[in-house]
Amino acid sequence: MTSGRSVGSVGVDREIIQLRRELSRLKRQVRDNEAIWAEFRQLEIDAVGAESLPALIHGISHGLRRAFSRVDAVAVACINIDYEVANIVDEKDGRHDIGACFEIISVDELQEIIRDETKPWLGVFDDARHTRLFPNQSKVLKSVALAPLNVAGACVGCLCQGSRHESHFSEDTSTELLEHLASTLALCIQNSVNKARLQRHGLTDPLTGVANRRLLMRRLREEMDRCRRYDHPVSCIMLDLDYFKQINDRYGHTVGDRMLVQVAEALKRGLRSSDLLARYGGEEFVLLLPETTQELALEIAKRHHREIAGLQLRDNDHGNISITASFGVAELVAAGHSDIEDAEVLVKQADAAMYAAKRAGRNRIVAANRD
Ligand code: GH3
Ligand code: MG
Ligand code: MG
Repeated sequence: MTSGRSVGSVGVDREIIQLRRELSRLKRQVRDNEAIWAEFRQLEIDAVGAESLPALIHGISHGLRRAFSRVDAVAVACINIDYEVANIVDEKDGRHDIGACFEIISVDELQEIIRDETKPWLGVFDDARHTRLFPNQSKVLKSVALAPLNVAGACVGCLCQGSRHESHFSEDTSTELLEHLASTLALCIQNSVNKARLQRHGLTDPLTGVANRRLLMRRLREEMDRCRRYDHPVSCIMLDLDYFKQINDRYGHTVGDRMLVQVAEALKRGLRSSDLLARYGGEEFVLLLPETTQELALEIAKRHHREIAGLQLRDNDHGNISITASFGVAELVAAGHSDIEDAEVLVKQADAAMYAAKRAGRNRIVAANRD
């Protein structure tokens, strides 16, 4: 009996040792997964913050290789969306040479290489199919991970990673993090293309990066049309910085410019994707708000009014500089407007309300008369 117990207890001890080992292995795995998750998160934060398409591609390529020592090659293959991508990438910003990690590819080629556009594919490197994805690659690759870049239901490219280790990318690896990174990357690429398109066609203000008056007028006509056809509300907020000339006079034009940029940044916060922020003139901005009643527009104006009054522009010579703004808010009432002249009615109403705010003492919001 005694020897039976002791045999039993040896078995239990062994089991405990095995369980402990398993526990340590699982703990290690959790730690590793957490580290991988943190790396992917950082890559996404960097991608969202990249200031240009070359910077974005450069960041992803270097970031992945830096984070994962067994990733030996990273490239982004992209279709030439609206013929813009190649141009944007050609306009090298001097700092990011991405020749080795970027490739323009045709839609047919892309489909042939990745086959399934809905999810990443990991597996053995195939010379015939995959060499095309890694331009100027001198290392011999043995396995690849191909993540399609999908945005708004369309596949615009592929994030390609290669490893010299045959087992590094294998079909049984989980791809959730990679899918997430690819979707962020696709969105960033699309965004860069949109931004470049606006700049190329002279529709943005170079100082603040927001829409210019031309783009505002174009969108106004579209919104007028929607308003007439579907009877949807559309509102407009016009704001003008108070005593802005004094900022230039006291602190100089550069400080004035920085203030304009900071105000534009504040106005961008909380903007819905359907809204348009435009620089209407020197220190005047317009927010065009589709699907927005005057009551809601007033609430939005109140938020911006508070935010602008709370801005502190830090200047080494003069300390903190603050500013206020006067706001006019109007909702387009009454259909029947059809031409360009009338498209401006809404802005004119908001402008008149804004001037009423100036006359009433500035630093306030006035709603347009709705009669
Ligand atoms: P108010 O409260 O009546 O609006 O007074 P204000 O001083 O803001 O208005 P005013 O129209 O007299 O002056 C606007 C100033 O905006 C004058 C102009 O020098 C300045 N301004 C216009 N565009 C720019 C710009 O791009 N950069 C800078 N720094 N200043 C600009
Ligand atoms: Mg002003
Ligand atoms: Mg003005």
